[in-house]
Amino acid sequence: KELETLKNSALNLEASTEISLFDEDRFSHLVKTVFEIQKELDGMLNLSKKSVNADSVTLFILEDGDFIPKSSTEDIHSDSIYAVKGYLPGVIREKKPFIIPTFKGSLGIESIRLLNLGQRASKNTRLAAKRAGSSLCVPVFDGNIPIGVLAMAGKSETAFGEREKDIAVSFADQIVQILSKKRIQIEIERVVKGLRALHEANLSLGTSLKVEEIAEKLVAHVFGMVPSSAVGFFAADKGKLRVIAKKGFEPEKESFYPKNTLFDFIIKNKHPLHLSDVDKQQAVSPFRINDTRTFLGIPIISENEVIGIFAVTSKEPNALSSFHGQFLEMLADQAAMAITNAKLHKEVGRLAMTDGLTGLFNHKHFQEMLLMEFQRTERMPQTLSLMLIDIDHFKKINDSYGHPAGDMVLASLAAILRKTLRGIDILARYGGEEFAAVLINTGAGGAKKMAERLREYVMNNPFFIEENKLLITLSIGIAIYPHDAGAKDELIEKADQALYYAKNNGRNQVCLWKDMN
Ligand code: GH3
Ligand code: MG
Ligand code: MG
Repeated sequence: KELETLKNSALNLEASTEISLFDEDRFSHLVKTVFEIQKELDGMLNLSKKSVNADSVTLFILEDGDFIPKSSTEDIHSDSIYAVKGYLPGVIREKKPFIIPTFKGSLGIESIRLLNLGQRASKNTRLAAKRAGSSLCVPVFDGNIPIGVLAMAGKSETAFGEREKDIAVSFADQIVQILSKKRIQIEIERVVKGLRALHEANLSLGTSLKVEEIAEKLVAHVFGMVPSSAVGFFAADKGKLRVIAKKGFEPEKESFYPKNTLFDFIIKNKHPLHLSDVDKQQAVSPFRINDTRTFLGIPIISENEVIGIFAVTSKEPNALSSFHGQFLEMLADQAAMAITNAKLHKEVGRLAMTDGLTGLFNHKHFQEMLLMEFQRTERMPQTLSLMLIDIDHFKKINDSYGHPAGDMVLASLAAILRKTLRGIDILARYGGEEFAAVLINTGAGGAKKMAERLREYVMNNPFFIEENKLLITLSIGIAIYPHDAGAKDELIEKADQALYYAKNNGRNQVCLWKDMN
């Protein structure tokens, strides 16, 4: 009955390796049985001792070519245990059980030789052999893998026969079952470590809001964690791949076309590619990693687009196990999520500072940008021109053609403004049909010229809205820093005054604050 219980507890573990993460009962049972290996082995040996009426039973485990007593019915360091140690390698080599008959003194040693077990008995063995009547040794194999030897000692010469041999063999089978739990324990430890590493990577990746930073962290995490010679992150950029993070290799070029490389294959398939022994003829990449034998490339997918490739290579063939592969794929997925998150964050930021209709900066962001420009002038004096641009009688456009037509005029005017001004200038939708522009490093002369050019262009170029040809005119007020005003609010105030003046003076004109009077 005892044996039956032991047997079942061992077999239970083999039944299913698919365990739900939250199956607490199953887990606590598993954890308990895994850590009870020693107890179970001891129990099994005691039972076998009774079953074959042995004097002592010891299980030796093969570790780095040496036989270590793992469990015994006796004191694990006693002479009688080590007595059998000398011929254990032979039992493993022969892969079958042996009954070693009674030996006395030197005769015992002879017996060992006769059995062709090779190994010369140690002094200990010789001493102990005098004491031991006979012994029964059964090899313990897990499939083809030698695990150790189950050794039983008997007092008399005839202690063991065929019956005892059979029983010992079935005990050896049970021992394999118990020991296989050790493998599960190692597996569990590995999975736990893997999860912890994933969690840490996730926390660290999640704190970055820049693609380059996330790539840098991912590469740093992986390099040294898995057996690799080179790790790289390649960002997709207008049909090319650009190296944005690397370790273990120096790219020949910072960016390259992936055509005819493994990278191209990954981009097209949107699927990881793992080669455990790369063919020398195969184009690994246009990089100087020609001695690559193992290659793993994982697409970084964000919103269904391959936005990059994460590659791990090794100079050794078969460097990455399927566990490594799975682990790296999960890490790459987390990096992809962090990148998507960073992109969304950037988009939200962009939305918060731009105007939906025109795509120009909104009023709030314009104020912030202007403030920053003023702070810059404190360190590095520069001239700024502020232009306030207002459409004349815009209400009439809405009234005559409808609000949507008005919207289209606003959007089209914004595009003209963007084309007319320089990239460094700050351009914003200041209010309903009012725009603001800050011309960097530009004085009254330059600002006036720019404003006139804009006014004339708009006056002479109608907007085509459906079948209508709409002509509008602009009034523009300009104030100059530091000439007209010393601070931000004062500058805005004066540009506004100039605009008011232009309106009152007949509209469709440019007015500089300094020329108002
Ligand atoms: P003025 O020459 O004095 O500037 O006359 P105006 O009609 O342009 O000025 P007013 O300030 O009286 O009216 C501005 C108009 O701009 C009123 C409003 O309906 C319109 N407007 C403001 N924002 C929008 C918008 O987003 N879309 C459209 N279609 N119209 C807008
Ligand atoms: Mg107006
Ligand atoms: Mg207005």
